Amino acid sequence: MLPVTRPDMRPLRIFPTDPTRTRSAARTATILVENEFLKPGPVGSRLEIVDFDASASPPIFYDAVDLDHPDILMEGGLSPSESDPRFHQQMVYAVASRTLANFDRALGRRVSLRKGRSRTRLRLFPHAFEGENAFYDRDLHAIMFGYFSADAADPGTNVPHQTIFTCLSHDIIAHEMCHAIVDRLRRRFLEPSNVDVLAFHEGFADIVALLQHFSYRDLLVEELQRLRGDLQKPTFLVELARQFGHATGRGRSLRSALDKPDKRLYSSVTEAHDRGAILVAAVFEGFFETYRSRVQDLFRIATNGTGKLPEGELHPDLVARIATEASRTAQRQLDMCIRAFDYLPPVDVTFGDYLRAIVTADFELNPADEWGQCAALIEGFRRRGIYPEGVTSLAEESLRWPVAVGAPPLQDTLADLLPKLLQIEAEKFSKQNSSSTSEARAYKRGREMSFSIEELETPAEAGQADPPGNSEEGDTARTRQVYDDMRKALQQYARECRDALDLDDPDTAHLAGFDAVFRTSPSGALLIELVAQFIETDVSTKDNPEWGGVPVRGGTTVIFGVDGAVRYVISKPIASGGRSLNLRRREARTAAFARRIRQRAFVASLDDADPATPYMTAEAYSKRMLTRMSLCALHEGHDHG
Ligand SMILES: [Zn+2]
Repeated sequence: MLPVTRPDMRPLRIFPTDPTRTRSAARTATILVENEFLKPGPVGSRLEIVDFDASASPPIFYDAVDLDHPDILMEGGLSPSESDPRFHQQMVYAVASRTLANFDRALGRRVSLRKGRSRTRLRLFPHAFEGENAFYDRDLHAIMFGYFSADAADPGTNVPHQTIFTCLSHDIIAHEMCHAIVDRLRRRFLEPSNVDVLAFHEGFADIVALLQHFSYRDLLVEELQRLRGDLQKPTFLVELARQFGHATGRGRSLRSALDKPDKRLYSSVTEAHDRGAILVAAVFEGFFETYRSRVQDLFRIATNGTGKLPEGELHPDLVARIATEASRTAQRQLDMCIRAFDYLPPVDVTFGDYLRAIVTADFELNPADEWGQCAALIEGFRRRGIYPEGVTSLAEESLRWPVAVGAPPLQDTLADLLPKLLQIEAEKFSKQNSSSTSEARAYKRGREMSFSIEELETPAEAGQADPPGNSEEGDTARTRQVYDDMRKALQQYARECRDALDLDDPDTAHLAGFDAVFRTSPSGALLIELVAQFIETDVSTKDNPEWGGVPVRGGTTVIFGVDGAVRYVISKPIASGGRSLNLRRREARTAAFARRIRQRAFVASLDDADPATPYMTAEAYSKRMLTRMSLCALHEGHDHG
């Protein structure tokens, strides 16, 4: 008998925006997610849906959906339903998986979400509590979705008092997933050391959620017909969480990517979501511009060169073609925005750093920029007054991080280890969509799949340097050994090359993560890199209440080529002084002092703006920066009116 191969992808049905689009033909969508083995929950290799409702009386566990049940498999998942909690579980799992897959693809590696000694999966609670909110909780390593009754006076398209589930909003799921993923990629981006840090978290999460809209084909076609191809008319395609916005009495979506560019906003707006919206608008201006240039020939052809579209409906063929361009442009924009992550410093990020990271990453992979996508994006930033520090012009070549000079290549031990690491990581990355036999065997025995590995506790801070990916049965010992050796060798490298890496004190600098990445350019070229992050902390600011719980940190992201040569050193130095200084050290020190002053001024400005500052208890005072700016406290429940 011929063997039947297990399909790589699993179809699942979702609401592509939220349940409000009941009358539209495109109210539901089928998406393809990685076809991993699932236990009821669903519980997969990285995600675990836990349907426990603590607000119900008595608190209740809803029956968990078994997406591997033959009847459900045959139907491509459960049909979308507002009233069936099992569909809610499926929707959360599907959209979370899709978001995660976008990160895997753009970053060129399998993003690890497992955490702690027991390698806990990211847990998602579709009905966690009653309330107008949803949030990512780092300590619980979980995303909590609330539910609530629609506003009685102004429920928008909802019925007054209708129950609104945040877990049925594509945008809220994708946005919260981004918080969780970003927190795994850059642990220190939840520390508000400057006004951009949390705004970056928020804006980036919105960018990913919104760009994903363009991958739902039926929805896109229907909407482009209505818009007659113009994406800058009001449309839910570029609006975030419409149902949530209306149900909470705002009379509009929660946020939108459309703005009136105003350079004053970037220097005055401080609230994280509002400031994040400036970043979203900058990125979307680049997207709109690229889209326009991609479709203008189609419109010329369709209008015999006049550019004037006839009255009535557009020809379905034209709409189909512009929809294809819109979704391709969106996917490339999304890849570009996510890919930049590996080129960000490990701490104290600014929007300007992000622009530089995007430009550098894009140049590495796609130097020709034949769509003009990178140039259009730079223009979006420029029009909003977002300039990186220390950059004299917004020309593409001055925005790129400087190519490293003087950093020695990886020494023998590391050079020997690199091919081994690359091999392990390449196997995992290429295998992620196919089911390995060991996984299947483990599954049949009713055991956990492929997670026999115990946690490799990290040297300095738990959760910081989780080894990338999960080991499989059989290669565990070898893989662990390579990760372990790699970690030691990179620490050693940092000690020996600290000046070239802008690291201050090799004894306090620790390795915060390392990843092998495999990226394919639009032209098909393969780019392989090793990315390592080092972080150091000024201990004198750590328990000093003046800093409000956010110590001064520095750090460096180092990018190695596949030959072991250092390509980029992207650093945020700190300075303790005391050593004799060469020129590089002197420059690093100047940058360090400037950052320190900026952080101090940021704390002072929030202290001034907060009338409660003089009345805080000593305990509250020492943590005030963290509580003021925490994502949870500010989250979707925060009023933007
Ligand atoms: Zn958020």
